[in-house]
Formats: sequence, structure tokens, C-alpha cells
Amino acid sequence: MDFIDLKSQYMEIKEDIDARLDEIIKKTAFIGGREIRELEEKLSAFTGSKYAVGCASGTDAILLPLLALGIKPGDEVITTPFTFVATAEVISFIGAKPVFVDINEKNYNIETARIESRINTRTRAIIPVSLFGQVSDMDSINRIAAGYGIPVIEDAAQSFGAIYKDRKSCALCFAGATSFYPSKPLGCYGDGGMVFTDDAHLAEKIRSLANHGQGEKYVHKYIGLNFRLDTIQAGVLLAKFAHFEEEAVKRFELGKKYNELFINSPVITPFIESYTGRHVFAQYSIRVKNRQEVIEKLTSKGIPHAIHYPIPIHLQEAYKYLGYKSGDFPVSEKVSGEIISLPMHPYLTLKDQVFISNTVKSVAC
Ligand SMILES: *Cc1c(COP(=O)(O)O)cnc(C)c1O
Repeated sequence: MDFIDLKSQYMEIKEDIDARLDEIIKKTAFIGGREIRELEEKLSAFTGSKYAVGCASGTDAILLPLLALGIKPGDEVITTPFTFVATAEVISFIGAKPVFVDINEKNYNIETARIESRINTRTRAIIPVSLFGQVSDMDSINRIAAGYGIPVIEDAAQSFGAIYKDRKSCALCFAGATSFYPSKPLGCYGDGGMVFTDDAHLAEKIRSLANHGQGEKYVHKYIGLNFRLDTIQAGVLLAKFAHFEEEAVKRFELGKKYNELFINSPVITPFIESYTGRHVFAQYSIRVKNRQEVIEKLTSKGIPHAIHYPIPIHLQEAYKYLGYKSGDFPVSEKVSGEIISLPMHPYLTLKDQVFISNTVKSVAC
């Protein structure tokens, strides 16, 4: 059994992937080119955003809008401490200060009602994370941010394909940032990412920053770096994207099926918000009181599992300098101690789901 089954997916669409890679290798055109443009056009049309700019990772996709906005040391950016470190890392990396807001205990996303009290004159952006593949309450967040003229950037690394009301993740605010890390809902065969926006100036600046600040070749308008998406990865993504919608539907169904299998057990299952048109379950994560026991049981039955995430960011050694202590974000701390992710991918069978849920239920409390 696999935690994420990339092999079955490859076997299913091998011909398309091999054909795409073959073509790129035969052309020996590995930077830029038609595949990048084709991918950007297809994904911006899919999400419903006007512009899409490919980049080298999901981390870069969050960093680039911050750079384009000119966020600098002394500025503050609001996000949550219960996320993959990259969300906070890009803020600190440019010298700005991550200001944490605790998560909601049901959906694990930013607690919308707590955002406003952390806004001050230094606040330059808000980065809600669409954790595990479910979008935050973006209308409310946009409304709060608009009152202060602060841009919102969605960390959509785990939520490409998710639907909020009737709109798609990545196209719900000033900028959306996704990741194509292999295990994400739409993953490539290495690293990759993309930024989405309706703002023409932001798109132009990000495209330039990601390519050494160039517009025209060897004419440098900005100080940028190399944050480009590889053409080979764009080829893989084009082949995979043809099957993505079907996979996203499947993920939502599998997540709801897991939830059903855990009914009448002490297991706390993912909460699906009423505004969620589609959760893409980048992770299917449950909570139990006796995590160690459940892990031992899963291990003894050969069921792969993971913890997303065991230590909230405010308690990480690298973030000691912010001066936070245990107890500052009680919901994030509680969830970190109870959460456990189970196998989730479009090739998961009902038989596996029954076996996995029964194994968890046999010991969970
Ligand atoms: C994966 C992930 C990232 C970073 O994406 P990479 O492509 O690995 O750089 C950022 N934020 C979240 C929430 C993620 O899950």
C-alpha cells in the first residue's frame, strides 16, 4: 500500500507523459518555450484567473508576490503557525516579520475572526493557507483586508482544484500561489510552482523577477533571480493536467467516503465547510487522542501514514527569535499533537479504505 500512489498514475498515462518528454528532449529546448505558455494558459483558464506565471517551486510562488509588492524588513505579514514552514519562511527570508493568527479547530485554516486584531500600520499582506486542500473563508478575509487596503495571497500549495462557493482556489484574491511538488494534488516530476492573479502589473513584475528582472533579454528592469519553471516539468504537468479534473472529483469522493467510514467512532474527521464546493484532500488527516498507539497499529499492519505537522511554526527552533512560547496558539498546538494523515490518492480502493479505517478504529480513542 502507498501513502501517495504516483506509480499507478504514471502507468495509466505513461504514453502522454513519455510523448511530452520525448518532444522536449528531441527539441533540446529546456528553458521557456511553448510548453510553459501552454501550461500557463490552460491553468489560468482552469482556475478562472487572468494571468498565470510558472516558477520553480511552491515556495517561490509565495515569495514572488511578496517581492513584487516590495515587502521589506520592518513590515509584517499575517499567516498561521499550523502550516508547512514555507509559508512563514518566505516572510522571514525577506526580513519581514511573520505575525501568527491561530487556526480554526474545525477546518484547520486561519481563524478569520482573529485576523483584524493583529492588523496594524506595518501589516503589508495576509497569507491564508488552504490547508489539506480546503479553502479558507476567502470572502470574509478579502473583506477584512480590503478595509485596510492590504493584499491577500492564498497559499494554495495544497488546494489546486479546490472549489470555494463556485470559484476555484488560486483565483480568489490578489494572488494565488500553488505548488507542483510531486505529492501535491497536481504534482510534477520534481519541483515546480505557479502564481495566479488578475492584476496585469503584478503578473508582469513576477514574470520579470522570476527571470533576473528582465523584460527584453539582457535588459534588467528589476533585481530578480532565477525562479523559472523547467520546460520538462511543464511537459509532465500538461500530460497530467488532462486527467486532473477527474482526479480532483475522485479525491473529494474518497475523502467523503473516509468520513463515512469513521462515523460513530471517536476519530475526528476532516470538517467540510458549507462553502466548500470541493475539498481536494491533498492530505486526508484525522485526529485521535492516542496518536502513538494508532501509529503503532498502522505500522504493524503496513499502512503508511504521516504527521502534518508535528510542531507548529511558533515553537520551531528557527522561529525562537520571534519570542513565542508554548500556549500562545492553543488550537494549533492541540491539533499538532493529535493529527495524523492516512493514505490518499486517486487510486485508493474502497477495500483499502475499509482496511485502513478499521485498523484505526480498532485502537483509536
Ligand atoms: C508544499 C507546500 C509549500 C511549498 O511548496 P514547494 O513546492 O515544496 O516549495 C508551501 N506551503 C504549503 C502549505 C505547502 O504544503
